[in-house]
Order: sequence, then structure tokens, then C-alpha cells
Amino acid sequence: MKHLKIFSIIIIFFLSGFTQNYNKLSKEKKTYAIVIHGGAGNITKMTEEYEKAYYDKLNEALILGDSILKNGGTAVDAVEQIIMVLENSPLFNAGKGAVFSNRGICELDASIMNGENLTAGAVAGVTDIKNPIKAARFVMEKSQHVMLTGSGASEFAKLNGLEIVPNEYFQTEKRKKSWEKAVENEADAHGTVGCVVLDTYGNLAAGTSTGGLTNKKYGRVGDSPIIGAGTYADNSSCAVSCTGTGEFFIRLAVAHEVSALIKYKKLSLQEAADFVIHNELEKLKGDGGLIAVDNKGNIAFSFNTEGMFRGYLKSDGKKEILFYK
Ligand code: ASP
Repeated sequence: MKHLKIFSIIIIFFLSGFTQNYNKLSKEKKTYAIVIHGGAGNITKMTEEYEKAYYDKLNEALILGDSILKNGGTAVDAVEQIIMVLENSPLFNAGKGAVFSNRGICELDASIMNGENLTAGAVAGVTDIKNPIKAARFVMEKSQHVMLTGSGASEFAKLNGLEIVPNEYFQTEKRKKSWEKAVENEADAHGTVGCVVLDTYGNLAAGTSTGGLTNKKYGRVGDSPIIGAGTYADNSSCAVSCTGTGEFFIRLAVAHEVSALIKYKKLSLQEAADFVIHNELEKLKGDGGLIAVDNKGNIAFSFNTEGMFRGYLKSDGKKEILFYK
């Protein structure tokens, strides 16, 4: 009897220790972070009405991401769903509301990367896939390729049951007007969207979606669908999404450069982001910005333009949405 009592006490002791440790462990693993952008450029004081519209949409995207991650969704799920919210809004230069190319239509680029296994997917120059970021995820997960372009991407999307729309769906009056102006002289368009996430499993993901530059010619492709230029994610360093004049971001392989500076030079996330934007990009007279998150949940923004639509939300409840410098 006495032995049984001692035995039970020992069991209860171990069990309570286990429960405590388990709770601690599951709490520790609940850390997550989301960072989003809605493009960098000449963003200065806007009307209250515009500010509210941008705030509300970015806030909606962050709140959706929060519920996905809280409920055990993955970083890739959150990146895809958040970017779809922004693609579906005419406020941004991605999906509906994309800028016009010199052909007078919308030609869209997007990419996504999973930092857990370095898989990636992208589509470029697509004209009829409602949500290019969803197509990019399908390329990543359901094909043996990384990037599909134009009609091939469209065929792949149709085969996989993705929603196909006429090009008019993407076109808005506002973008048409700025294209008409741009035909005469250069326009400063912005509104590319991007998202980087650390999920509760410790995995990183990044995604970017855009209509590219107003009046772009000859099937021009920017940095957004290029892995290493506009988008990159690696669990051992960070996840990055860029926005700006894509030609500079491609030449500098900006997103991968940030990751490499962390991995090999042991810079902090903010140091790496600032070095690439304020040093390397500025040397080439490039313009734009980036968002990043690392595997500890640190976040960073960096841009050399007047403003960048941006926001973040962390598992500790911190949230901020900003537009200007
Ligand atoms: N980076 C995009 C491109 O060059 C445009 C942007 O971010 O505004 O296609």
C-alpha cells in the first residue's frame, strides 16, 4: 500500500512536470509574424478617404493572416491568402487594378517561395488568371517547374481548375488614365503587393504579385516573379518581398542578397535590408523598398522612396500600418 502511494506521487510529479514543459513548449512555438507591403513610390500625403481605404484593406489582409496562423495554418497558406485579398482589391497594382502595359492590357507577374524546403513557383506575363499568386503556388506544388509564362501559365491554370477571367476584369479607369498619361511621359506607378510570414512551426514564406510598370513593352518581366530578385525565403535566414523599379532589383538579386548577408555576414535583418536598399540599390540609382521577417520573428522594412504602403502583425498582439517615411 505504502509503495503504491509513493509510486502514485512519483507518477503525478512526472506528469505535472511534463504538462508544464509541454505548455511552455507549445507556447514558445506559437510565435508568428506577418509583414505586408502594397508598393513603394512617390507616396505623400493622401486624402483622408484614400488613407482610410488603404488602411482598411491592409488591415483586412493582416487580420486574415492572423486567423490563419493562429489556427495552425502554414506560412505558405498565409502568404497566398493575404496576397489574394490585395490582388482582389482595385487599390493595388496586382490582380484587379493592375497597371496597363503598352498593349493597353494588364500583364501580371507573381511568385511564392517556401523557406522550409526552398521550393518556389512563379508566373509571368499572364493576362487571364484571376489570382496570379494562387497560380504561382500551384506551379510550386503541382509542377516540376519554377516559372511558367503567358499562354503556358494560363493553360496550366485552366488544367488545375483555377479561376480564369477576361482581361477587362483587371482593368480600372484609374489605371487606364495613368497609362494614357504614361504613353506621353514616364509615370510613377506603385502598388505591387507582397507578404512575408513566419508561422508557428518556425517556417518562413514570401510572395509578391504585380502588374509591373505602367506602359511596359515587349513582354517585359520585372523582379516580382523572379526568385532571388523580388521574392526569397529560406528558413535558415529570412523571407523577403521587394517592390520598386524591377530592373535594379533583378541586377542586384536583392531578395537573395538580404538573405546572404544574414547567412554569411551575420548581419541583423534590419542591417541587411538597409545595406541593400541604402547602399547597393542607391549606388545604381535604383528606387524601391522591401519587407522582411527572420526565423526569430524579427521584422524589417527598408525603402528609399517617399513612402511605402506597409504593415505588420505579430503574435504578441503588436500591429502597425504605415504609408509615409
Ligand atoms: N517591382 C515591380 C516591377 O518592376 C514594380 C513595383 O514594385 O512597383 O515589375
